[in-house]
Formats: sequence, C-alpha cells, structure tokens
Amino acid sequence: MVPCYNEEGSIAELIRRCRQSAFDVAGNDFEIVLVDDGSADGTWQAISAETEHGRNIIGMKLSRNFGHQVALTAGLSAATGELVLVIDADLQDPPELLSPMVEVMKREDADVVYGQRKTRAGESWFKTRSASIFYRLLKQASSLSIPVDAGDFRLMTNRVAQLIAQMPERDRFIRGMVASVGFKQAPFLYDRDRRFSGETKYPLSKMVHFAIDACLGFSSTLLRLSSAAAALLLVAIVVVSVYSLYSWLYLEVVPGWSSLMISLLVASFFQLASLSIISEYIGRIYLSTKNRPLFIVDKIKRSG
Ligand code: UDP
Ligand code: MG
Repeated sequence: MVPCYNEEGSIAELIRRCRQSAFDVAGNDFEIVLVDDGSADGTWQAISAETEHGRNIIGMKLSRNFGHQVALTAGLSAATGELVLVIDADLQDPPELLSPMVEVMKREDADVVYGQRKTRAGESWFKTRSASIFYRLLKQASSLSIPVDAGDFRLMTNRVAQLIAQMPERDRFIRGMVASVGFKQAPFLYDRDRRFSGETKYPLSKMVHFAIDACLGFSSTLLRLSSAAAALLLVAIVVVSVYSLYSWLYLEVVPGWSSLMISLLVASFFQLASLSIISEYIGRIYLSTKNRPLFIVDKIKRSG
C-alpha cells in the first residue's frame, strides 16, 4: 500500500516495479492499494489511468490532504492481503526487497519486518543527522522499543495492519504504533535510494510536527521534564533563600536587583515551559474528544 501526495511523476514507474516484485512473490494473487492524499497535481489521474489499464490496482482518493500517517492508515484499512507492504511513492524504498523481506518474515516467524536504513542516498546532511538523533532520543524517552533508523517501509501481517487501522488516535506515529502492537518484529537492513521524481513532502516544519507527535504520543517524559524543572527550581529557591537569610543576618548587603530579576525570569520561564507542554497534551485531548473521522474517502476505483 502506497500513500501518494503530489507524486504524479512516480506513479507509472512505481506501479511497474511494485507489480513485478509482487508477481515474483505471489503470482497474480496481490493488489496494489494507492491512496491519493488530496494531491494538487495529476496524481489521481495517473492512479485512475492505471486502474483502467492494468490489473490488481485499487485507487483511493481522500477528500483532502490528511497527511502521510493518516493516508497510510486509510490504505491499511483497505488492504485485504494476507501480507501488507507499506512503501513510499517516491521509490526511495526499493519494491524489489519484498521477496527477501517475505523470506525474513517466514524464517523468523515474525508478524512485522521493518526496513532499517543502512544508508540514505540523496538526502541532506541535516535530514539524516536530525533523523538519526531523533530516533535515538525517542528510543531513550519511550518505554516501547521503537526501532532506530526505520521509517514506514514495513511488511506486516494483515492482523497487524488491521490493528493499526483500527487504532482511533489522531496524532499518529505509525512506527510507534506498530511497535506497541507486540508480536515478533524483525529488522531488515537496506540501502535507501534517492527520490525517483519530485521533491520531499516533508519540509522542516512537517518534520518538527512529526517529531512532536512522536514525543507526545509515545512518552510521558516531557510531562516529567516539567516536574524535574520544578524540582530543580525548588532546590534553587532553597539555596537562594538560605543565602539571603545568611546575608541579611551577617553580611549587611542589599539584596541585588539583578539576582532578583534573574530568578524571576528563570521561574517564569519554567512555568511557561511546563504550561506549554501541558497545553500540547490538552490540545490533543480536546481534538480527540471531537471524534471526527480520521479520514474521508472521496472515491475508490478498482481495476477490472
Ligand atoms: N505523503 C502523503 N501525504 C503527505 C505527505 C507525504 O501521503 O501529506 C507521502 C508521499 O507521497 C510519500 C510518503 O508520504 O509517498 C513519504 O513522503 P516523502 O517521501 O516526501 O518523505 P521523505 O522520504 O522525504 O521523508
Ligand atoms: Mg521519500
């Protein structure tokens, strides 16, 4: 299953390679689910043309852009195969790896085989470094073992796919959700290619959002951080109070204006910081109480 957002240049080649690779593993017994996540270019036209000309294609058009993780969820909910491969539309993850991944799945008797990137071609130094640091920090912060350097390129059994599709949470971080399901999950090391066409749909602002979703959704460390900050502040208050008492009694110094200002600022900073973390959580609770549908399907088109 493939989430596609403004990927008109890749669709034909993507389907050609996916079809070949799926055919090698399962003969004609496969389907390729393509979710058009509200693209503004000719992505839907390309998908819909493929459903008319080729076999085994299901195109799903969402009513607007819902974001990568929700598009992926929509695709999983439509996937009926015994095994489901999640792959990006830009061919950064080679579809030909399906066959070795299926082998690993059988050999390890696993429910999930996740692609773990050895190298990432054609990506900026900043992107690879920030991703690498992010994955490691997240691993530290979360109680789940979320694998490092793994994206959404994954082979999973249908039961895992349906479990993920049914999870109602809104700010989705699928890698973490898959890790939370349990069962046996095996890594598969591979080299990530450069994009076949177009450019990344994850600019810095989306990456930061995604990272925040991951941190808030999968760890309560941030909440604890604000308590740790408060505890630190308490220590500081005790020290400063003892010092001022001591000066008042023995040193005859006028309490300094600057130290007052600094402590005031530091205190307000910590208060604001913890408030903002709490409000992030409350904002999410608020949104999820609305119970809006996670995604809305505009059309579904199947090849004959
Ligand atoms: N994508 C999507 N909706 C979005 C953004 C991205 O469906 O709002 C798809 C995109 O078409 C691609 C995949 O998600 O198939 C991963 O995006 P991209 O390749 O741009 O991310 P990167 O590999 O650069 O991290
Ligand atoms: Mg990509």
